Amino acid sequence: MRIFDPHIHMTSRTTDDYERMAAAGVRAVVEPAFWLGQPRTGVGSFTDYFDSLIGWEPFRAGQFGVRHHATVALNPKEANDPRCRPVLEVLPRYLEKDGVVAVGEIGYDSMTPEEDEVFAVQLALAVAHDLPALVHTPHRDKARGVERSLAVVAESGIEPGRVVLDHLNEVTVELVHDTGCWLGFSIYPDTKMSPPRMVELLKVYGTERVLVNSAADWGRSDPLLTRATGEAMLLAGFTDDDVDRVLWRNPVEFYGQSGRLDLGDVDAPGPTFAGNSILRGGS
Ligand SMILES: [Zn+2]
Repeated sequence: MRIFDPHIHMTSRTTDDYERMAAAGVRAVVEPAFWLGQPRTGVGSFTDYFDSLIGWEPFRAGQFGVRHHATVALNPKEANDPRCRPVLEVLPRYLEKDGVVAVGEIGYDSMTPEEDEVFAVQLALAVAHDLPALVHTPHRDKARGVERSLAVVAESGIEPGRVVLDHLNEVTVELVHDTGCWLGFSIYPDTKMSPPRMVELLKVYGTERVLVNSAADWGRSDPLLTRATGEAMLLAGFTDDDVDRVLWRNPVEFYGQSGRLDLGDVDAPGPTFAGNSILRGGS
């Protein structure tokens, strides 16, 4: 099983995770820029973070045979902090980098006017830089958040096929599946979406325009839930080809729209190299 996790925050994970992921078949990841828990107080913390997403982290992933790309954005939560607003001015520089394959995570946290504005500005940046967009949907008041996100996406003029609405569930998928946007699902250990629930959704909505991710970060999460979902699909009667489509070809198609997805030799169907030690730059 070859796996591309289209949304995972490896900065928050250990090298043990890279080892386990590589052993489970994860060969490529996309790491969206997000909220780090501790509020950032100025633009410099963001640029250091973005640099690490396109520099250090791909290097670290490469030690385990995992290909790493990133998305950059001012995340919805910090869009509310005026100290973070100047991040919007440095984004164009990052949106031109080779390893950046989308604008994200953007969207809503608490649905404030500040979030409205920052969301719209960043969708315009996606259009201007010819990049797809990764839209985070809020964990509270989700249905209203999805409706409002779809309205902002429609207003922006971005082509729906270049947008994924992430963290969907059984209720919100209904709102998105006819819009032409991609359907993103984050599989969590004990809340929200689980592998068996995901399989039920795939039975109803099919495998087209569906992205399945672990969204693993510094919270309770599990980077191997992509693999668990693939196994649950097989048990439910989906074919190897269906699994390959959902866990590999779909993310390749979605982020491939950036023109920057570079999978090198991890694309081959056979087993891939998984090292067991990590080089430390400069030591
Ligand atoms: Zn995330």
